[in-house]
Amino acid sequence: MQRCCGITRGRARCSNGARYETTICNATFKVCKHHQNKRLLSGWEREISRRETVELPGQDEVPLDVERWVHLFHEGWDNTKNIYVSSNFATAIFRHHDIANYNFDKKHKLYTSIKLNSGPILDTCGICLEDRRVYRTECDHAFCKNCMREWLLRATTCPQCRRIL
Ligand SMILES: [Zn+2]
Ligand SMILES: [Zn+2]
Ligand SMILES: [Zn+2]
Repeated sequence: MQRCCGITRGRARCSNGARYETTICNATFKVCKHHQNKRLLSGWEREISRRETVELPGQDEVPLDVERWVHLFHEGWDNTKNIYVSSNFATAIFRHHDIANYNFDKKHKLYTSIKLNSGPILDTCGICLEDRRVYRTECDHAFCKNCMREWLLRATTCPQCRRIL
């Protein structure tokens, strides 16, 4: 059975099996009986309410398009089964309105490039330890794009200093 995608108070993934479904903003999620109550999907609720408005460069604050965010979250979830990755993924790219025709792979490439601050330069990648064209994260650690794409499917932190990217 699939695992429930609800979140516990400690922000961990619920360990129950998912026999039920709940729908948030037209996206359907497999959940356990406990998490069928929408209010108990507290991680997402918090994530969404924390981001009621967003600032876009050169514009005033605009309301967060929650439905769009949840759809991207759902797409991230389908492909990674990781609640933190999905949430970061949705938050990073939901304001890019030109990605409607992108498949997940292309969206994830965009997500990765957002997380890489500058580059490329020729240097040693912190993951594969090869001399490659590498890009620097905000915390100033350097990785090649292939390694970083793989890494960001499973984690939201820098592989070297564990800072959240
Ligand atoms: Zn659950
Ligand atoms: Zn590498
Ligand atoms: Zn780092």
